[in-house]
Amino acid sequence: MKIAVLSRNPELYSTKRIVEAALQRGHECVVIDHLKCTMLNEPGKPRIFYKGEEITGIDAIVPRIGSSATFYGTAVVRQFEMMKTFSVNSSVSINRSRDKLRSLQIFSRHDIGIPKTVFANHTTKNIGALIDQVGGVPCVIKLLQGTQGIGVVLAETDKVAKSIIEAFFGLEASFLVQEFIKEAGGADIRCFVVNGRVVGAMKRQGKEGEFRSNLHRGGSAKVIKITRDERRTALLAARSMGLNVAGVDLLQSSRGPLILEVNSSPGLEGIEGATQVDIAGKIIEFIESKHKGGYKKDKILG
Ligand code: ADP
Ligand code: MG
Repeated sequence: MKIAVLSRNPELYSTKRIVEAALQRGHECVVIDHLKCTMLNEPGKPRIFYKGEEITGIDAIVPRIGSSATFYGTAVVRQFEMMKTFSVNSSVSINRSRDKLRSLQIFSRHDIGIPKTVFANHTTKNIGALIDQVGGVPCVIKLLQGTQGIGVVLAETDKVAKSIIEAFFGLEASFLVQEFIKEAGGADIRCFVVNGRVVGAMKRQGKEGEFRSNLHRGGSAKVIKITRDERRTALLAARSMGLNVAGVDLLQSSRGPLILEVNSSPGLEGIEGATQVDIAGKIIEFIESKHKGGYKKDKILG
């Protein structure tokens, strides 16, 4: 097969590992920078050009779209879909998972555990009522556009929560107000899902005094054995997004696992390091299984 990895940087650990796994398994593999693709559309003929040359003969793509290039990146994924090229994750599912609010709405519809969360806009008169709806302070305030822990704030008192919410409304920023899950203890669990299976899981612990467990914020990771309920919830969350490859983040709460978010281009370095599992190989294996069966449109719940 000829596989293309859509990635801005061939030197990134995840990109290198996917290329390596594809080559090891006897495939051709190229890295394509999605921002350097142009899309030409005319009746019956969707085409893609890369650095001026037409791309043809690609059997499958592995999108590794960073959050800063979601719009353009998913347009390129969609163009490949129009050309009937199989994508490990569909453009729709990537877009869906990138939006924290849209994701929570879908989880809520499917009765998947989530922290109680409220969304409102700047015309809101009673900010105190918003805070009460999620159980009062301490509460978490999250910018919708945030990633890697940036834009996630813990408001410990009513006064602080109100002034942050007022400030964000003043800026017309979009944000969520969320119940703080104290018993998670500054840790979360990342379940790496490939094709309806959890192929690796790790617990990430925030550094001392930090409630955010993001590795980018100084957190550390170690392998963990997840419970049946955690596995079930992680798989349901990935399926509700329509993602075949996903990094599902959940909090361990006193009422069971609660989903925080589902990442459509989850990093491989942390999870392969912690679990010693060849996750890149699992992704390529999944593409092979799809190729053998003939590509069919995935059934999605969302
Ligand atoms: P980002 O997209 O920036 O990673 P997250 O929603 O995943 O944003 O939040 C970052 C981290 O903050 C999480 O991994 C978790 O450790 C912590 N966190 C987020 N929301 C909550 C919450 N409601 N209760 C407790 N901890 C939380
Ligand atoms: Mg996160």
